[in-house]
Amino acid sequence: MADLNLILLGPPGSGKGTQGERLQEDLELPYYATGDILRGAVKDGTDVGLKAKEYMDRGDLVPDEVIIGVIADRLESGEADHGFILDGFPRTVPQAEALDQKLGEISRQLTAVILIDVPDDEIVRRLSGRRVCTEGNHVYHVDFSPPEQEGVCDIDGSELIVRDDDNAEVIRNRLVQYHDKTAPLVDFYDGQALLNRVDGSMDPDRVGEAIRTLVSTLSLEEGT
Ligand code: AMP
Repeated sequence: MADLNLILLGPPGSGKGTQGERLQEDLELPYYATGDILRGAVKDGTDVGLKAKEYMDRGDLVPDEVIIGVIADRLESGEADHGFILDGFPRTVPQAEALDQKLGEISRQLTAVILIDVPDDEIVRRLSGRRVCTEGNHVYHVDFSPPEQEGVCDIDGSELIVRDDDNAEVIRNRLVQYHDKTAPLVDFYDGQALLNRVDGSMDPDRVGEAIRTLVSTLSLEEGT
């Protein structure tokens, strides 16, 4: 049986977290969301967290060597030996090259990159109303997907907060970073015939359906 080694690519607020969580449930694979991992590291005050915080607060990308180390540790740990879902990594061409190299060293290769495509004006609308829970990183929107009880996560009951980097100025910078540094990965992975586009401007259930269909096709092709 072949493994599914998947990357979710897309701008901030494209729904990678929401869809990643669904995929993780469907596929029962380890799910690595680098933003969540880094926020956890900041909260715990680890070395990585201390290095990452100032970049995250500005909406800049943390240095490649910091984040590459974080993912390399996971891939070497054995827990992703039968596949993985990456969300928010890679975000630069050097990160993608480092990932290729790491996978090569352990005789693995990517199955597919799923690009969740959403236009900038929609991103700004989504991020400005986004709320996340403090316990499980579950995502809501004050208008489009509000929780049943204001300020409380439907799933784990924890408090809903506005992320530090979801303010107008930082959102603008995160989009600039995306277009400058991450969008080149679209051509990078297209060139490797790994890229699959999904229209992320649809509602989350329809995006989820599109991704599920895509992954079923990939699973058939991979013989899983
Ligand atoms: P996210 O939750 O994916 O929007 O990520 C939040 C922040 O974490 C980003 O704005 C970056 O500062 C940092 N970050 C997450 N993943 C990466 C990565 N692969 N490379 C560099 N910085 C990252």
